[in-house]
Amino acid sequence: MAEGKKGALGWYFNSNLLTRILIGLVLGAIVGIILGFTPGAVKGYVSFVQPFGDLFVRLLKMIVVPVILFSLIAGAASIAPSRLGRVGVKIMVYYLFTSALAVLIGLVFANIFQPGAGFNIVGAADIKGKEAVVQPLATILLNIIPTNPMESLAKGDVLPIIFFAVVFGLGISFVKDSKTPAIAKGADMLFDVCNAAAETMYKVVKGIMQYAPIGVFVLISIVFAQQGPKAIGPLLIVTLTVYLGLLVHLVGVYGGFLAVYKLGLIKFLKGANEAMVTAFVTRSSSGTLPITLRVAEEKLGIPRATSSFTLPLGATINMDGTAIYLGVCAMFIGYAIGRPLTFNQQLTVIITATLASIGTAGVPGAGAIMLLMVLESIGLKVEAGSAVAAAYAMILGIDALLDMGRTCLNVTGDLAGTAIVSKTENELDLAKWR
Ligand code: ASP
Repeated sequence: MAEGKKGALGWYFNSNLLTRILIGLVLGAIVGIILGFTPGAVKGYVSFVQPFGDLFVRLLKMIVVPVILFSLIAGAASIAPSRLGRVGVKIMVYYLFTSALAVLIGLVFANIFQPGAGFNIVGAADIKGKEAVVQPLATILLNIIPTNPMESLAKGDVLPIIFFAVVFGLGISFVKDSKTPAIAKGADMLFDVCNAAAETMYKVVKGIMQYAPIGVFVLISIVFAQQGPKAIGPLLIVTLTVYLGLLVHLVGVYGGFLAVYKLGLIKFLKGANEAMVTAFVTRSSSGTLPITLRVAEEKLGIPRATSSFTLPLGATINMDGTAIYLGVCAMFIGYAIGRPLTFNQQLTVIITATLASIGTAGVPGAGAIMLLMVLESIGLKVEAGSAVAAAYAMILGIDALLDMGRTCLNVTGDLAGTAIVSKTENELDLAKWR
């Protein structure tokens, strides 16, 4: 631990990490907003500070694959296969249900606030839509099984890594019971090594977080410098609608579910906040994963055997914030081009946006690409020069701002679900919730 450090930087390491991160966040936003009003200075500023922000993101990314791999192998080796199956079913039901609720919340607020109403955008934007490729379900499912685990590790494909690690971990637990003592001993050692490797990675994450306040400051200032003023104006209502939806989902859905299982929302947020802030500034659920895993264990008292499985899964498929965003933005585009979505179109959006949120990668801006798929499903094609393309371009212009909030909720949802499932399994360390 860094506590009790002396020397020139003692004041830095000795002060509370979250306080430092929040100071970085606020200062970054202020600096960014001020810079945003002097467009001439933005470019120079960004190119100077960008490396300091990238440093933070790269450090986190560096650790993602080893963290998932080792903690999941160790986790799967220490959990009974039947329990793993039960946890898997529970978390999938939770993930799907909350995502569908999220789209619904987005649609309700968009109906109330009608973002984009009265714009009457007509074509002529030169934005060409990116192709959203939709694969058949069988292919998507089969792709979860890696043909070459090393390739999946090298590419950082999370679902195949999860699959391989679980299989490997289960394999270890069987070999541990081998009748040949030498082999059983070897399996025990392998388990210990994976456990120690996971532990080591968590230590590294702790170290990386010491840099977080600086990384946060830089990343936030860049977003506000580049995008801030754009959102103040016609797009303000979309931004507010999305953020209101996120807040209501957080308090209503997560708060409600947690309360049903006798867990307090405030305690939960206190435990989850480091992951939430990191998600907010990095705009990547996958990138935040090392922090998410660490707070789950250290602050929320969730055993690693569960969290090492449910959190990487959630970071890949559970995107409630993205679901809300997809609902609101589909509605915005309908209003903006003067063709508000009909009731049936909105029903379609509930289905396609839920599926699209599952398919969204946990990387910055991925949701904006999935929006194309949702639009397509209700007959709004983003074609060059069309009104839809113009409205879509407006959304793209403020995507970073929307992405921060939705990613934050995406990660929070994974943690809330994991805490609840862990509670139902009677394995939550309730001392951390008092
Ligand atoms: N950036 C989001 C995430 O990583 C995905 C999105 O763009 O909606 O969770």
